[in-house]
Formats: sequence, structure tokens, C-alpha cells
Amino acid sequence: MSLLRENVVALVGVGLGRERLAPLKRKTIEHIHRWGGRLYLFKNVQAEVCSQCGESFLKPAVLRLMDRCTATGKVGRARLSIPVISLLAKVSA
Ligand SMILES: [Zn+2]
Repeated sequence: MSLLRENVVALVGVGLGRERLAPLKRKTIEHIHRWGGRLYLFKNVQAEVCSQCGESFLKPAVLRLMDRCTATGKVGRARLSIPVISLLAKVSA
């Protein structure tokens, strides 16, 4: 199934409820969380993941926990460095 069709199904599913869509599987994932203009990588996040398209759904309690970690600055010492790339000069169209 194409990504586009999955998106349409997801949009329709808003009115129908998630149970009409592909089953969700409980998984432990990594999640990028935005807070105050910064990005935080959370590991060992419990999520419900769509078995078809891979979209993850986080429970409110998990989101609140991540907000509490970032708001209080209790984020640990590990840091990542990531490349920043602008496509402005790379697109010829
Ligand atoms: Zn899906």
C-alpha cells in the first residue's frame, strides 16, 4: 500500500476511530521531542506503532513525562551532534 493511500486512510480514520485501521503493536522506540526550540532524543519510549505504516502513537502520560524531563532540565549528560544541511542551493528546479 502506498504512503499516500495510508495517509488517506488515516484521515478517514479520524472520524472512524483507530480500530478501523491496521493494528497497533506496543513497541519501545526512540523519539525526537521538540521543546523550547531544542530537540531531545528520548530512548526506551513506550509507544503504539501502526503495523502497516510505522506511525507511532504516544500516550498522554508518556508525553507528560517527556515534557517534565525537558522542563526541569533533567535530561542527562549525553549529547549528539547532527549535520545541518540547507537544500536552498542544491535544488535546480
Ligand atoms: Zn498506519
